[in-house]
Amino acid sequence: MKNSSKIVISNLPAPLRLARPGKLVIWKVKGWEKSHEELRIKNYELGIMKNEIEKLKNEILSNLAKVKEERVLKDLEIKYLGRKGELTKILRSLKDLSEKEKKEIGQLANEIKKEIEDKFSEAKIAISGKSGQERVDITLPGEKIERGHLSPLTLVQNELEDLFTSLGFMVLDGPELESDFYNFTAVNIPPNHPARDMQDTFYIDKKNKDGEYDLVMRTHTSSVQVRAMQKYGAPLRCVVPGKCFRCEATDVRHEHTFYQIEGLMVDKGISLSNMKAVLETVAKKLYGEDTKLRMRPKFYPFVEPGANGEVTCFLCQGKGCSLCKNSGWLEIFGSGLVHPNVLKNGGIDPKIYSGFAFGFGLTRVTQLKYGIDDIRLFNGGDLRFLNQF
Ligand SMILES: [Zn+2]
Repeated sequence: MKNSSKIVISNLPAPLRLARPGKLVIWKVKGWEKSHEELRIKNYELGIMKNEIEKLKNEILSNLAKVKEERVLKDLEIKYLGRKGELTKILRSLKDLSEKEKKEIGQLANEIKKEIEDKFSEAKIAISGKSGQERVDITLPGEKIERGHLSPLTLVQNELEDLFTSLGFMVLDGPELESDFYNFTAVNIPPNHPARDMQDTFYIDKKNKDGEYDLVMRTHTSSVQVRAMQKYGAPLRCVVPGKCFRCEATDVRHEHTFYQIEGLMVDKGISLSNMKAVLETVAKKLYGEDTKLRMRPKFYPFVEPGANGEVTCFLCQGKGCSLCKNSGWLEIFGSGLVHPNVLKNGGIDPKIYSGFAFGFGLTRVTQLKYGIDDIRLFNGGDLRFLNQF
């Protein structure tokens, strides 16, 4: 029949009229099987259906071959095999076919469905295997994690804190932003006292309610002496390690931020000999058993009498070298018996109690211990320096 599809279709009853070449349509043909034309069209439509299924199969397989990611594979699975997927639609439509057709197309469709499902499973295994490898490959060598460590200042501070606590001293902390009173006045350096000139102080640009500038960055750890006395009273034994600040032009020997450690002992009948015993113990701990201590008078406003403490140079054992400027001695401590005014400011009666105080530069001690010739390295944050400890 020439150009039959068009003519035939127009003469067919409604269900069959839907069937057009190139379009996949499911139709019922009950009662029409006998018609030659019907069969012809039916075969034609079944042929299209087969073609469509084959085409879809090829499309799915070629898409599957390109998939590299799990997410894309999932999308494809939904597109073709999902509840509203393209292959599912075709398979669902098979229920409308006659038994004979079902047998013919159904078998093909099921084979293809099985094949595609198998390919999806294979792709899944391949992809998850790959991405699993990316996540954890236990055969790769581990990445070395750098461990932090303590700064040389902290190492020396810890060592000294251990020593002092073994001698019965408390370790105290105090504010770095300090009142003018505790930093100066309380330790016997009243306003306008010339001793204030000895320290280049960072004053804070903030007035109190009386219109005075009364805040400073503490210039020494001695600012905690009176705080400790007020809080704990006598008898008292404490050390105060911490940061201090001076308005210094920085060079190899000067730094605006440095560390001190303060010591204070108040009790009945405390004398210079007690102080000497403690300082000697500290010197030996720092520089070895053979270290000797020498004390010479020196003025500090908060002690009376005052003495600087020198220890035998650990480098030349007192013979003289460049470190000790050929004197054989290294000046380490400032010390003395606590001035009665300071005791009074701390609420302690100087007629009953006496005490000694000392302070030394933790930074300087650390420099001497490790032979560090530039004080700026401590605050510089240079790992080449810090990693050596
Ligand atoms: Zn020396």
